Amino acid sequence: MIDQITIDKIMDAAQIVDVVSQYVTLKRRGINYVGLCPFHTDKTPSFYVSPSKNICKCFACGEGGTAVHFIMKHEQLTYYDALKFLARKYGIEVQERELTDEQKKAHNERESLFILNDYARDYFVNTLHEHLEGKSVGLSYFKERGFREDIIKKFQLGYSLEQRDAFSQNALKAGYKEEFLTKTGLAIKSDHNNQLIDRFRGRIMFPVHTLSGKVIAFGGRILKKAENTGKYVNSPESEIYHKGNELYGIYFAKQAITKADCCYLVEGYTDVISMHQAGIENVVASSGTALTNGQIRLIHRFTTNVTVIYDGDAAGIKAALRGIDLLLEDGINIKVILLPDGEDPDSFARKQNAESLSKYIKDNEVDFMRFKTKLLLDEAGNDPIKRASLISDIVNSISVIPDNIIRAVYVKDCSILLDVDERILVEEVNKKRLAYLEKQPVQKIEPEMSAANNDLSQPIERNTKTVVKKTVIDKFELAILYYVVRFGKEPLLEEGQEANSDSMTVIDYVKFDLERDGMWFAHPLYTQILEDAIAHAHEETFVPSRFFLAHPDQQISKIAAELLGDRYQLSKVHTKQYGEDAKQEDTPMAEEKHLIKNVPRVLTELKDAHITKRIKEIKEEMEQKQKAGDWDAAIDLMRQIKDFEEIKKALAKALGERIILRW
Ligand SMILES: [Zn+2]
Repeated sequence: MIDQITIDKIMDAAQIVDVVSQYVTLKRRGINYVGLCPFHTDKTPSFYVSPSKNICKCFACGEGGTAVHFIMKHEQLTYYDALKFLARKYGIEVQERELTDEQKKAHNERESLFILNDYARDYFVNTLHEHLEGKSVGLSYFKERGFREDIIKKFQLGYSLEQRDAFSQNALKAGYKEEFLTKTGLAIKSDHNNQLIDRFRGRIMFPVHTLSGKVIAFGGRILKKAENTGKYVNSPESEIYHKGNELYGIYFAKQAITKADCCYLVEGYTDVISMHQAGIENVVASSGTALTNGQIRLIHRFTTNVTVIYDGDAAGIKAALRGIDLLLEDGINIKVILLPDGEDPDSFARKQNAESLSKYIKDNEVDFMRFKTKLLLDEAGNDPIKRASLISDIVNSISVIPDNIIRAVYVKDCSILLDVDERILVEEVNKKRLAYLEKQPVQKIEPEMSAANNDLSQPIERNTKTVVKKTVIDKFELAILYYVVRFGKEPLLEEGQEANSDSMTVIDYVKFDLERDGMWFAHPLYTQILEDAIAHAHEETFVPSRFFLAHPDQQISKIAAELLGDRYQLSKVHTKQYGEDAKQEDTPMAEEKHLIKNVPRVLTELKDAHITKRIKEIKEEMEQKQKAGDWDAAIDLMRQIKDFEEIKKALAKALGERIILRW
């Protein structure tokens, strides 16, 4: 963990114009800078950089935020690593926050596993290039396969000796603990004599890297014909290695994937390496297993377009079909390339150069759904039962696709291919879709900023699976946070009044007012922002805007960036209510003067929204009681409604007549 003081230092040093202009050519426009957005194909400059707010934002695709967000997205780093990246750039020493003993232990253990894996990688690389056996068996194999020297180095390929404990003995001598040798899975403890045995013996070694390039596992391929052992052996799952969350090659592919906005999916280590050597770098491997949700999420961070490259043989195709529905479900566009008979991506890529390989890919890419339909049709022939099961299989795949339009296109396509009436297919897909949706867990509410933002802005998260529309209550909570984040420590003063020790700040007032009426926020993220603000409100060094921009929860710092944006105006709902005079007050200075009017007003609106909602609920309940003939209960509910309407009237009075809206 990095402490707050260091984060502040980094945020101060990392001037947004300086950071962004390393990647984007910026031109001055008024008080801001603009350039072509690096995150989407931008034809007119949509990317705004505000030096005064120290943030950036694309008004076409919605990407942006602080310098840290920019680096996270551009360099594909985590929040923590992006901070360290900027710290290095600006020569700031990173002070790690003191960890608890338990955290330290967990942290140290993970670190120890990483360090040992680094050591093992270096050992295997060294063995390949320096040891007689490594050279004569491992290196000569790679050379025979036509792997270039630079590619062998880049992928950190190595060799493990045949001697049963060569690596373990070496590591123990170098001071590595037995505990970590077994925890990483590099060694296995023998059952009968407690001796350490190397997991990888007489194998060429492929280190598996995380997104940020750390070695978390190894794959070893045996070269000799051997009984009782698989061609490939892989590291077991460990504290640092969860197979289902990793993709082989992602570290070397991430930038190329972003650039091409497409990811090729192959099966094995050598497929990835051979394609790299042929000049295609946006390629990853699922390492033989069917795709998992974790792996799909990883790809989805970089692109929504995946092309699966299949071996030409039937077994390869069948294997690859598994897991594809998961990609469809995630809204990924899938294409398929079938290689010539008898070829796999490795063998095929080795026969091509970059140009011919790209051309083959371009000429042979087909849409997945069409591919699957044709494949199954061929298989079914004229057998009516097989045809029926094929149709239900296709219907299943189409029904999981989240996008309505894409589903409709596929239905049309497949009805022609299958020679089935389109209406029947639509009906079947709808039935399946309903059943599928019912099985889904309750969806999480994610913040979606566009509703409370002006027309130019877009949702922050482009690829969130479910964007839940903001409720009226969410909107007013966000409007309150607008004042908390921008002016949280400012006092509420009447015109001409001087601040004194009795003056209430915006944060104090919001807390006081909500508590007085026994209310609180409902939206979980907004609640956290409010509660964080209250917790720190009386700290000397607490500056709400800085604090929330640098918040370790990415979703929160993004909300703060939005609220602080130059272009952020309160929602239309809001400005409409305040009329023309509000528009002229948009400059922060003017707004600051009117805090005493605006903050209570928006709080009142939140309450009004709650009461409106409550009245609606009670009315529904009352109607049901009436239907059921329970008149006593109905009358009781009617009284409650009357009470709430009285409160509403009082609120309306407080708000002035123009502002109550009807929803
Ligand atoms: Zn953009």
